[in-house]
Amino acid sequence: MDCRISTETLRLLDNNQGLEHNPLPNEVKPAMEKKEKLLSQEEEPPPLFDEKDNSASYDCIKDFIGFKDFKKVTARYPFVTTAYYLSLAQNAPDDPIIKQLCPSIEELRSSVGETEDPLEEEIASPVPGLVHRYPDRALMIVTNVCFMNCRHCTRKRLWKKHRFTRTLSEIGKMIDYIKDNKQIRDVILSGGDPLTLPLGDLEIILERLRRIRHLEVIRIGTRAPVVFPQRITPWLAMILKRYRPLWLNTQFNHPHEITPQSAAAISLLQDSGVVVNNQSVLLKGVNDNAQTMTRLCHGLLKIGVRPYYLFHCDPVEGVGHFRTPISKGLEIIEQLRGHTSGLAVPTFVVDAVRGGGKIPLQPDYLVSKNNGVVILRNYKHECFVYSDEPEVKLSENRHNL
Ligand code: SF4
Repeated sequence: MDCRISTETLRLLDNNQGLEHNPLPNEVKPAMEKKEKLLSQEEEPPPLFDEKDNSASYDCIKDFIGFKDFKKVTARYPFVTTAYYLSLAQNAPDDPIIKQLCPSIEELRSSVGETEDPLEEEIASPVPGLVHRYPDRALMIVTNVCFMNCRHCTRKRLWKKHRFTRTLSEIGKMIDYIKDNKQIRDVILSGGDPLTLPLGDLEIILERLRRIRHLEVIRIGTRAPVVFPQRITPWLAMILKRYRPLWLNTQFNHPHEITPQSAAAISLLQDSGVVVNNQSVLLKGVNDNAQTMTRLCHGLLKIGVRPYYLFHCDPVEGVGHFRTPISKGLEIIEQLRGHTSGLAVPTFVVDAVRGGGKIPLQPDYLVSKNNGVVILRNYKHECFVYSDEPEVKLSENRHNL
């Protein structure tokens, strides 16, 4: 896939070599003003990818969906993928890569309880594009463009709009909101995929955020290392390096997505001091069994990525066929915890509907708690008794039942 950066952007970055790595938050670089002007929304952004050349066409997936159904589904939920991600697929309808990239007629069926925006992000947006749900954190949706339209996407509602990337002036309003709300100490750049932005624009956003003294943490949510690792170039890594500490959350859902290319992309990020965590989504027919999840988590650790969250699939319209019962996630965690290192066990989370926030769930290891006596069980279902109050004496404080 082509990922051209305009010569103008490169020239500006070249001119910017006087910028120190990790600029202090109060540093204001005069060169930025010039760059900002040159890269304002009036200017044609550098072409990131050409849909005609780089989005896989119907031909590539014709074995998995009829043309009539393809047209029906994509009229509502467009098809976008990368040649790279497609190259990981096996020619089978139940292939985990095909399932994530190929439109399905099931996307047009909706079930009770599903809505376009179950997390009510739009309601929690005081400024267009900025979601402020938790007091100390904010989420910036800077674009609806992704390298690939993952068929299980929670923000599928955004696909109905034409492709948009927020202008620097719109993004400026989000940044002003963060500046004015001193309790916000953590911001996530998200989308869409923020790494689809022209690099010059991305740098402007990062620099403006870094100037905010009360902002401690910047996170980037991107699926680029998984679906388009070629996007993680030395240029991009160099830019990210300037704004450390930076946390990058990505989304590997299946061990087949861990390839030499994705490992190289992760390595480039890590060499630049960017910390990479993974947030998988539990998807029916893709990764809804302990064996696949174990292979995925072990594979992630091998490339230095921490399995951070396993999300229960949200009740989003057009995604119902990917949803599993919540008990499936608990069953998988039960089969991971204790059977492998704790580093390899993600936190299973349900993002509550109506904007209730993330609810972590895990199998119950507390068997009972009565009259100061607590009984716990381990991963082998062996029980252990503890005195939970100093005055309660057990003949043996800890013994195997
Ligand atoms: S990369 Fe993320 S935001 Fe984009 S389609 Fe996939 S899941 Fe949705």
